[in-house]
Amino acid sequence: MLRTHRTSDLGRLRDGQRVRIAGWVSSVRDQGSISFLILRDGWGEVQVTAKRGESPEGLLELLRRVPEHSSVVVRGIVRRDPRAPGGLEVVPSRISVVSRARKQPPFSVYGGSLPSIDKRLDIRAVDLRRAKARAIFRVRHAALQAIRRFLDSRGLMEVQTPKIIATATEGGADLFPVLYFDREAFLAQSPQLYKEQLTMAFDGVFEIGPIFRAEPSRTLRHLSEAISVDVEMAFADYGDVMKLLEEMIVRVSRELSRRAREEFAVLGREPELPSRPFPRLTYERCLSMLRDAGVEKEFGDDLSTEDLKELGRMIGGYYFITDWPTKLKPFYIKPKSRRPELSESFDLMHGDLELSSGGTRIHRRSALVRRLREKGLKPRDFEYHLRVFDYGMPPHAGFGMGLDRFVMVLTGQENIREVVAYPRDIRRLTP
Ligand code: ATP
Ligand code: MG
Repeated sequence: MLRTHRTSDLGRLRDGQRVRIAGWVSSVRDQGSISFLILRDGWGEVQVTAKRGESPEGLLELLRRVPEHSSVVVRGIVRRDPRAPGGLEVVPSRISVVSRARKQPPFSVYGGSLPSIDKRLDIRAVDLRRAKARAIFRVRHAALQAIRRFLDSRGLMEVQTPKIIATATEGGADLFPVLYFDREAFLAQSPQLYKEQLTMAFDGVFEIGPIFRAEPSRTLRHLSEAISVDVEMAFADYGDVMKLLEEMIVRVSRELSRRAREEFAVLGREPELPSRPFPRLTYERCLSMLRDAGVEKEFGDDLSTEDLKELGRMIGGYYFITDWPTKLKPFYIKPKSRRPELSESFDLMHGDLELSSGGTRIHRRSALVRRLREKGLKPRDFEYHLRVFDYGMPPHAGFGMGLDRFVMVLTGQENIREVVAYPRDIRRLTP
């Protein structure tokens, strides 16, 4: 290894301990007879202080010439000094510039005003050296680990399902076709049918993986490739999985408020600490609230972005919209037995942002075939799926939650591109 310690290890060391640290230069401050280099690595930063008379010949000169962003390895000793940021600095005996930055980014990564996200995305890896960007991605990482731990603690098994598939899960035009040898195949828009099947064998399953949607319009909340947290449970209905989902949100938020304090401080916000139960409003109740607010809506109309904005203003925070009209939901969602025009379905919202959709699924083959036909889909195309329903498919329910959208909520970002390392949309396919 080029390094003996990470910057985050230094606080534990005794004064005078020899270290070799490695990272990139985030700034150099030259004050004539003394120079300060701030070295950053993946875990934090430390000040490297070189003094005339104390440091070897040429070191101050080297510091004067090393451009920001260069990668360096610093050998030296740890010294406590209350004047140094964090109360500690490294006194260098040798500094090697292992990769000199030949260019400076066209915007300041270490403070100052930022250009449009498009300019930043062009050199995204450099853009991600910004403190705020790093904080967002550390929160994302922590949320992902907390989600895994939570679902595992509930006895769900993590699975992976194919991303190259033969038929659309929901029909629809938002699929990416791919050439699969001599046939046409598609990128999976969701693991829906596979996760349902796996409940037959594993009871409760979850998958955290990519979903692909050919979203033709550029919005602040849609990408062509997103990460979905999918859950499916046997012998459960939509009430059960709503409960699981809100427990997950509450648990993860609490964990983050403990584990990601520094990140939230960098982002300048307090983590939201929601409490259970989240409000549950039926679709019909939402219609009447909208009518009271002067928005004319008929039963069966989908809720538009504007409608969701209005509801978000009225309710705020996390809430469920339940019991959607059957015709607005995909074929696999179970209609209510008493009122089949409504379904056992829900969306989890935060303000006007949809985070998740879920519901009880149809587990009888004949009913599923009927719903496929009603949706204009061909049961023959789904034979590979329908087949297993003959072998005792249990009643089941589940949801898909957009991880990227959840991270937007956690970190207070308006644009989904800020929380995705390499976002894909209709205009962007690189980097
Ligand atoms: P929307 O109405 O916002 O387009 P949707 O209802 O089409 O979303 P679902 O099929 O219900 O999406 O997918 C489940 C979840 O996956 C959504 O609630 C959302 O959090 C996330 N998701 C879906 N499509 C995208 C996308 N294009 N970009 C980012 N996240 C997405
Ligand atoms: Mg949805």
